[in-house]
Amino acid sequence: MREIEAAVVEAPGAAFRIEMLALGAPGPDQILVAIRACGICHTDLIMRDGHLPVTFPSVFGHEGAGIVAAVGTDVQSVQPGDHVLISFHSCGRCGACHDHQPGYCVEFVPRNFLGVSGPDDGRLWRGGAPIGGEIFGQSAFATHALAHARNVVKIDRDLPLEILAPLGCGVQTGAGTVLETLNVQPGESVAVLGAGAVGLSAVMAAVIAKAGRIAVLDRHQHRLALASVLGATVVTDDLATLGDGFDHIIDTTGAVDLVAASIDKLALRGTLALVGAYPGDPRLALDLSAIMSMGRKIIGVVEGGIDPQRFIPRLIDHYRAGALPLEKLIRTYPFAAIAEAVAASESGAVVKPVLIMDNRSS
Ligand SMILES: [Zn+2]
Ligand SMILES: [Zn+2]
Repeated sequence: MREIEAAVVEAPGAAFRIEMLALGAPGPDQILVAIRACGICHTDLIMRDGHLPVTFPSVFGHEGAGIVAAVGTDVQSVQPGDHVLISFHSCGRCGACHDHQPGYCVEFVPRNFLGVSGPDDGRLWRGGAPIGGEIFGQSAFATHALAHARNVVKIDRDLPLEILAPLGCGVQTGAGTVLETLNVQPGESVAVLGAGAVGLSAVMAAVIAKAGRIAVLDRHQHRLALASVLGATVVTDDLATLGDGFDHIIDTTGAVDLVAASIDKLALRGTLALVGAYPGDPRLALDLSAIMSMGRKIIGVVEGGIDPQRFIPRLIDHYRAGALPLEKLIRTYPFAAIAEAVAASESGAVVKPVLIMDNRSS
């Protein structure tokens, strides 16, 4: 058992409060990571508010990056001292996992939202009672986290952990949707609804894919300005001026009315990818005839539809080549300033806040 600091959410809608907790030793397939950085993802705030099937009290945080401190007896992929990024968790046994599509794992919900542990797994404790951890197989708003061989990706030691932490969720979601799920081809047109971390990652990936028209919609002018810097050819806060006839439309907003209005902006055989969070019971009335006769598609995408073990190394190659200037999206905050970082995310002032954990002494 190890004493750690972690940001606990006591009940739905409560603040993140840093407390001392105890973390068990790694079980056979677990990896203890000394967390150096963790991005704040919109999903962390949705979980905090109780809109996903999470338990309370709980520790969230699912864009962890750090250094391996210990490994379980069955782990062969990493060893203490390795630098790693942590992504979402999956079972490794179902059809989707075998197809390298772990975002559609049959155990996605229990392994990522419920944080279920195996009987021999280490877990989080507070005052002798277990509390919610292992969210996304990590719970990385903490100085240490227990992850798994399947959701830990080893990276070179010269790479900046605080810049690459968001590869494990937000960046791979936007970039994977463009490069793998939609497989955007040179010259094709792409519209991105929402210029947060996922949307701007989609923009960077569309540039990598040599897309033609890249149109971005957002209500924040500073995000639209950033989209232009990253390679968007049209930026607007008004759907009416976004343009028409897109081969691909990527919704990262979760705004049902916007999704409904965007369908008419698809080209013949165009695809609308639903990437945002759609809490509650969102329903659309669809003109089925216009979808059928124009060969349009509407698809759902989880985590970009990628396998982190294969896709994160590909993203790192793009980062090294200068094609993923993630530092333009990121502002770092000390772990103790988590409230300020969350506020900056919620107001839209900062695209991707990243918390820095100073655990060098432990
Ligand atoms: Zn699976
Ligand atoms: Zn996320």
